[in-house]
Amino acid sequence: MKIEEREIPAPESDEALVEVKACGICMTDVHISKGQFGVSDPLVLGHEFSGVVKEIGDNVSKYDVGDRVSVNPIISCGNCEFCIAGRTNLCENGKILGGAGDVIIDGGFQEYTTVPGDNLGALNQKTSFEKGAFSEPLGCAVRGIRRADISSGDRVLIIGAGPMGLLLLQLAQLQGTSEITISELKEERRKVARKLGADRVLDPNQTDVVSKVKENVGKGVDISMEAVGTSQTVRDAIDSLKVGGKILVFGVPPEDATISLNIFDVYFDEIDVVGSYAIDKNSFRRSVSLLNGDKINTEDLVTHRFQLAELENAIELNEQRVGLKKIVKF
Ligand SMILES: [Zn+2]
Ligand SMILES: [Zn+2]
Repeated sequence: MKIEEREIPAPESDEALVEVKACGICMTDVHISKGQFGVSDPLVLGHEFSGVVKEIGDNVSKYDVGDRVSVNPIISCGNCEFCIAGRTNLCENGKILGGAGDVIIDGGFQEYTTVPGDNLGALNQKTSFEKGAFSEPLGCAVRGIRRADISSGDRVLIIGAGPMGLLLLQLAQLQGTSEITISELKEERRKVARKLGADRVLDPNQTDVVSKVKENVGKGVDISMEAVGTSQTVRDAIDSLKVGGKILVFGVPPEDATISLNIFDVYFDEIDVVGSYAIDKNSFRRSVSLLNGDKINTEDLVTHRFQLAELENAIELNEQRVGLKKIVKF
C-alpha cells in the first residue's frame, strides 16, 4: 500500500468532483488490502465517504458546488432485470467505488474523487461529514432490516455488536421491536450495546447463546440477525429461532463457508433464510434521511480517527478488531 500525488480528476458530464472530508474503514478494506479478495490493478480503496461538491458536469442538475454530500458506492446500470426490480445491489453491470465487486473503480481514500451525480445523497448543515460517512454502512443495515421485514412487537436476536451489529440494533429499535438480545465477544462492544439500549447483552464465552435465548424468550426469537459471518454464529442464529422464524445472514462469511441444515425443520417449522448483500438505491436514500434526521447514534460507534497518511495502521487496527469504527478525516 502506498500514498501518492495525483492530478485532481475532472468530472464527466454526469459526474461531480467531490472533495472527500471523511471516509470510514471497514473489513472489506482489510480483505482487499491483505489480498484475501483478488484485485488485479492498483486501486484507491474506501467506499464509506462524504464530502463537498467542488465541480459538476453539465448533466448534473440536482447538486451544486458547495453542497455537502455522501456517496452510494454502487454504480448500477438502471436497465438490467435486477435494477428494474429495485435490487440495484445485484446489478449485472454494477461497478463499485473502492469496495469489493466484479468491477472496482477508485474510492474515497483520496482528497478528491469523481462520483456520478446519481450516486450522491444531500447532507444537511447539521449532519457532520463523519456522520455522513455512515451513509453506506447504515444503508447496508437498512437493506438488512427491510430484508428481515421486522414488525412491531418482534423479538430479535443480533449476533455480533461490531459497527454493523450496532447499526442493526438501532434500526431494529426504530422498527418497534419488543425485545432485543445481542451477543458479542468483546466487553467494550457489549458496553456500547447496553448504552444503546439492548435489552439483553450476552457474552458467548460465558453463556450458551441458544439456551440463554430459549430460557429468556421462551420458544425462541421471531428474527435473528447474524452480523459476524461465521458458520457457528449462523448455526446459533438458526437454532435460536422459534417456529416460523427468520434468519438474516448479514455478516460477510468466507466464500466457502457452509453449514448443514435440517431441511425437514426448514419445511415443517417454516424457517425463512434470508441474505442481505450491500446497499441498494432505496436503502441509501433512507439511510441519508435517517442521518439527516439525527435518528442514529454514530458518535458512540467511532473509536478512532486518522489522517490519510496513517491509513495502513488504521486498517491494521481494524483487522485486529480493536475498537469500533475507524474514520479517516481530511
Ligand atoms: Zn463497508
Ligand atoms: Zn443493473
